[in-house]
Amino acid sequence: MAQKPQPSLDADSENFWGACARHELVIQRCAECTRLRFPPVGLCPHCGSAEVEHVEASGRGRIYSWIVVTHPVPKEIYAGEVPYAVALVELEEGVRLPTNIVGCEPSEITADMPVEVVFKDSDGMTLPLFRPSQS
Ligand SMILES: [Zn+2]
Repeated sequence: MAQKPQPSLDADSENFWGACARHELVIQRCAECTRLRFPPVGLCPHCGSAEVEHVEASGRGRIYSWIVVTHPVPKEIYAGEVPYAVALVELEEGVRLPTNIVGCEPSEITADMPVEVVFKDSDGMTLPLFRPSQS
């Protein structure tokens, strides 16, 4: 039976996914120029430094952009899940994270809507999803 594709872990992203497993959202910060970045990469795109540290994010953000998936591709995996929303959430810290929006109907999503992270344990991974802000 076909399974959903999983994010792949590598040396740059293992801290991010490890934090998700602990239900924490962390962002890379360049130890030289202190700029935040996402997704995790080995070298700072601003100054080229390989020195990195990780900071815990608030878990709050806003919907920057989104689409609603209505056609399940591949059908054998996603037929029971449509419609669902794929969004780019801009965290309070300023980086944007691709994710799914849960906890509301996709038709209820609006631009700039406040959202907060929720963690979903799934097939041996923990994914950071977002729902409408409860606070
Ligand atoms: Zn830098």
